[in-house]
Amino acid sequence: MLIEYGKTIAYICPYCGRLTKRNITLFDLPPEGACFYCGDEACGECVLTVRHKKDKYLFEVACTACDDRHKFTLKHSGFWKKQLAVLSCPQTMVDIMFIGEDECIDRELAKQNAMYREAEEEIRSTPEIGIYFEIIRVVNELSKEGGISCGVCGRKNFDIELDDSGVRITCRDCRAEAVVGITADSLMELLETGTIVLE
Ligand SMILES: [Zn+2]
Ligand SMILES: [Zn+2]
Ligand SMILES: [Zn+2]
Repeated sequence: MLIEYGKTIAYICPYCGRLTKRNITLFDLPPEGACFYCGDEACGECVLTVRHKKDKYLFEVACTACDDRHKFTLKHSGFWKKQLAVLSCPQTMVDIMFIGEDECIDRELAKQNAMYREAEEEIRSTPEIGIYFEIIRVVNELSKEGGISCGVCGRKNFDIELDDSGVRITCRDCRAEAVVGITADSLMELLETGTIVLE
């Protein structure tokens, strides 16, 4: 199979929210790595970086959904052969980066737009979804700033997961846990105390 070394890459800037779409060839992914910037001239932030790791591309994307950075690896061969690869935020499942053929990406983005409009409608009619994203954002921030601690063993190694009861934070060392429910009250409490103590 003939591989065509031309693809389109699209990503959403977490700083200004703008979508950037550009064509890339092999030369845009040099062995020394590269940075892809927000296409908005006033912003121009570096949104994603790519490095090489053996036969893989290692992407690191600043996430527009959760304020974290996510890493993705794609095999060189897979990268240039795929018609469309969509990379999502593992915490919120929001799609944050698209790689593939131009028209496939356009189709996917049109689909996404329709979905976002629907989701916006839903957020307006069900405020819990807005709270859900806000809680994820706050928990992430706290974990970065050291606002989460284990009241049992005092260490700071945590797993953060989402389940039906809310955001569950578990101590990797002693399995103590805390659950932040998805309610306006628990969000308020989180913002007021600025700490989460596992027990
Ligand atoms: Zn930007
Ligand atoms: Zn994310
Ligand atoms: Zn512990």
